[in-house]
Amino acid sequence: MPAIAKFVEDAGDDRLADLARTLFRPSGVDGVYARTGLYEGVVEALAALISSHRPADAEVFRFPPVMSRRQLEKHGYLKSFPNLLGCVSCLGGSEREIRAVVDRFEDGGEWTSALGAADLVLSPAACYPVYPIAAERGPVPAGGLTFDVASDCFRHEPSRDIDRFQSFRMREYVRIGAPEDIQAFRADWIERAKGIADRLGLPYRVDLASDPFFGRGGQIVAISQIQQELKFELLVPVRSEEAPTACMSFNYHREHFGHTWGLTMADGALAHTGCVAFGMDRLAVALFATHGTDVGAWPQGVRDALRL
Ligand code: AMP
Ligand code: ZN
Repeated sequence: MPAIAKFVEDAGDDRLADLARTLFRPSGVDGVYARTGLYEGVVEALAALISSHRPADAEVFRFPPVMSRRQLEKHGYLKSFPNLLGCVSCLGGSEREIRAVVDRFEDGGEWTSALGAADLVLSPAACYPVYPIAAERGPVPAGGLTFDVASDCFRHEPSRDIDRFQSFRMREYVRIGAPEDIQAFRADWIERAKGIADRLGLPYRVDLASDPFFGRGGQIVAISQIQQELKFELLVPVRSEEAPTACMSFNYHREHFGHTWGLTMADGALAHTGCVAFGMDRLAVALFATHGTDVGAWPQGVRDALRL
């Protein structure tokens, strides 16, 4: 039986099993699925809706699903989330050495121990590559900088839950500027996001949140993150009311990226940064879970918002 059908049946939830069967096809790996045309139509419509809210001054970048390993190391990602990171690895060496590895595999042996880490990692979030691009330009203008970024993201968190993927799409609006500017940007986006969720007919609440920092030391960082109110999430009940799904996040990084990349304001103060992230796949799953798989029968207001 296909893995995707099995997981929800294991959990005894026929509704989610049916949903998964309609929206996805299994790939043989948990959390990595082929997406149907029905599903992609809604993802594209969501992307257009989010674009219609793009800040007027935003500069657009679309990043590949891989990014510089060196840059991510510099961001401190390994300290915070080493368990989630995927690194690209390739076969190196001479033609003869590579041929020997392939021959070993052809003879029924294993080949992966011959892999070496490339200078690429799989991007774990869409905004990481934008900070060094901004820093290259010198001091941040007084009015701040706004970016519209997106990429396919990878996080090594295999799961059979319908709302947790290893490979998923993330769209973000990113703001770089003075501290008050970033806080205002985030507060404004929390209100805008609620408006978007209302138009989409999604039940939700916005709550304080923390990132899943690695290990016991990470728990202390997570508590401090909550105390400083650095992260909020817009949560939609997809699988259950008790464990709602984070479909968007609103993040204030303080001067973390400014410090890492030497991003400064004209007066020399470190720039602060923040971002609003839209989990495109989670939003699409939430729409189907809320309104059903017959898009033609979705509430008229929702179809109007999505132009479906
Ligand atoms: P985060 O950086 O964790 O706040 O992620 C930004 C957004 O990406 C979240 O609000 C989710 O909507 C989405 N996201 C994060 N992890 C996953 C995942 N494993 N599967 C699908 N979407 C995800
Ligand atoms: Zn971000």
